[in-house]
Amino acid sequence: MVGGALELFDQGVTVFDAGLRLIAWNRRFVAMLEFPAELLVAGTPYERFVRYNVARGEYGEYDDCAGTADAACVEALVAARMAAARRFHPHHTRWVRPNGRVLELRGQPLPDDAGFVTFYADITDQQQRQDEIDRQKAELEAHIQRRTAELTAANAELTAAIERNREITVALRYSEGRLRQITDAIPAHIAYFDKTWTYRYANRRYAEWFGWTSETIVDQPIPTVIGARLFDHVAEPVRRALGGEEVSYEYVLAAADGSERHARSTLVPDFSPAGEVLGCFVHGVDITEQRRTQSALAQAQKMEAIGQLTGGLAHDFNNMLTVVAGNLNELRAARAGDAVVAEYADPALLAANRGAALIRRLLAFARQQPLSPRAVEVDELIHGLTRLLRRSLPENIAIYTAADTPQPVALADPHQLESALLNLALNARDAMPNGGELRIHAGIETLGEVAAADLELAPGPYVQISVGDNGQGMDGSTLARVFEPFFTTKKASGGTGLGMAMVYGFIKQSGGGVRIRSRQACGTTVALLLPCAQAGDGAAGDYCPAAGDPAGWLKGRLVLLVEDDAEVRRVVRKQLAALGCAVLEAENGEEAADLLESVPAVSLVVSDVVMHGSMDGHALARFARGFRPELPVILMSGYTDAAASIGDDLALPILAKPFTREGLYAALSRIAPLVPGRPDDDA
Ligand code: ADP
Ligand code: MG
Repeated sequence: MVGGALELFDQGVTVFDAGLRLIAWNRRFVAMLEFPAELLVAGTPYERFVRYNVARGEYGEYDDCAGTADAACVEALVAARMAAARRFHPHHTRWVRPNGRVLELRGQPLPDDAGFVTFYADITDQQQRQDEIDRQKAELEAHIQRRTAELTAANAELTAAIERNREITVALRYSEGRLRQITDAIPAHIAYFDKTWTYRYANRRYAEWFGWTSETIVDQPIPTVIGARLFDHVAEPVRRALGGEEVSYEYVLAAADGSERHARSTLVPDFSPAGEVLGCFVHGVDITEQRRTQSALAQAQKMEAIGQLTGGLAHDFNNMLTVVAGNLNELRAARAGDAVVAEYADPALLAANRGAALIRRLLAFARQQPLSPRAVEVDELIHGLTRLLRRSLPENIAIYTAADTPQPVALADPHQLESALLNLALNARDAMPNGGELRIHAGIETLGEVAAADLELAPGPYVQISVGDNGQGMDGSTLARVFEPFFTTKKASGGTGLGMAMVYGFIKQSGGGVRIRSRQACGTTVALLLPCAQAGDGAAGDYCPAAGDPAGWLKGRLVLLVEDDAEVRRVVRKQLAALGCAVLEAENGEEAADLLESVPAVSLVVSDVVMHGSMDGHALARFARGFRPELPVILMSGYTDAAASIGDDLALPILAKPFTREGLYAALSRIAPLVPGRPDDDA
């Protein structure tokens, strides 16, 4: 035992000399390692301590041989320990004793190879605390790791969800925009209102139809949007639709410009899965155009039907009147001095003439009056007409005329055009009993597909002559019947109801159309559309009858008269004879053609247009033109269709039936310069 100095350490201490024999130790060492007293003697070899430890199983890994009789095992163990000790290396190890105590050993060789000192510290408590700390730390770390993993996963999920949401929002916005684009593009009014009668959606057309926008209409109550008047009309259908019924109805909307718009709407209830009505889908279509086309078509068909009926009647009456008037005229001429004849024949003739005038107007309406279309400088014609109107209209009606440049030139019968415009002006006068303004305007209007179809015309440019007044205007029912023959609102003042019918028939027969705009208390404008004249349609001056006195020039001339109605033929023959002509008669076209071939002395042909047989007046004229090009032909007709008078390549003069001897004379004198081979040429 080396002094008490070793006892000052709070650790166990042993010192062995270079020969590995115990030199010194302290009490703490003894208490810590519980070696028996016989070993704790100076000089005890280190090997005895090793053997003692092996025997008491101190070295855990050799438990197999500890305490057993396996000497070889023990020896090997001891030998290994001794070999390690003899190396005298500094060492620092931990030793867990079988009793559970944990010792920390620190060995250090003494200077000058004097031996080896070893310190023993019992670190069991410290180790336990450390272990506890480590365990808790590990637990904490594991916990943190778990939580972190959980958080990371949650975070990733959240990010993915946000991304999905963003994608959905984008897709939704896109599909909503697309849906709006589609609903805005389709030509229909689409809206949705809920059961509180409040709009939740409307496409552009729907909103604009009522003067709103798709944005401003949302959340508005129905009456606010559509107005109280229309609401009165649709409230019932809406109530029924919200009661679960699909409802269709039509309505009229007064546009801001005073025009009327027609629409058809269907309300389709929106049911919840539980069967409760949540609101209504509205689907509407603008049917203004359809309505207009329908009524234009109906109007045209009606006029066509009336025209055919009137035309048929007028044609038959025409022939009868020709006979009646012709015979009466002849009777008057034959008994010029007979007062009794005059007493009975004159009123009959007067009536026949009035009948003829009436029939002319009916034929005009039926588009069957003979027309001589020419190129007409409309502005000039209006000028001439205005002079007449200034004299005949009351002073409180102001007349304004205007024409666009370049001057419109129409293809029409100038006389008929003049009387049509006169008719319109007189109607305007009647509509302005307290005075007003009459405006006549001429220009060119180019009709598009729709406008042209409404008028049953081909699209393209037309000469437009409008006659406008600021008089009483017409209500809807008058407007619908204005072209009908004998329709008049002026019964009391002797209206005939034939003016507009004549205008209509004449314009249609001329290949044009009539358009009327009228508003009650505002006035009426009637626009006539006529085909534009083409180069070669003949100058406006052409239609002026040749001046001069033709008296006597027909004398002795051979006229071929072609007419299938024997009575009519007889009357015309007499008229021609009275004019001094020799008359050759034919009953039909074929017979006339034969006569032309065989009688070269014929110097003029007067022929009916529509005749029995295969050769009508036009065909005969063509035959004559081919056979004897210089031979003039005059056609007589009370029954001619548009083709007979318009666009006929021969442009023959047409004599309207019935005609007087003077009428016949005038027509003949017009072609006088063309008639060849006068037998009594002044010479
Ligand atoms: P009438 O003049 O003999 O009555 P019309 O055929 O000329 O016959 O006209 C038929 C009807 O059309 C007239 O009675 C009138 O009601 C209406 N009408 C024609 N033109 C006008 C107009 N400019 N303004 C108002 N009403 C018109
Ligand atoms: Mg009239």
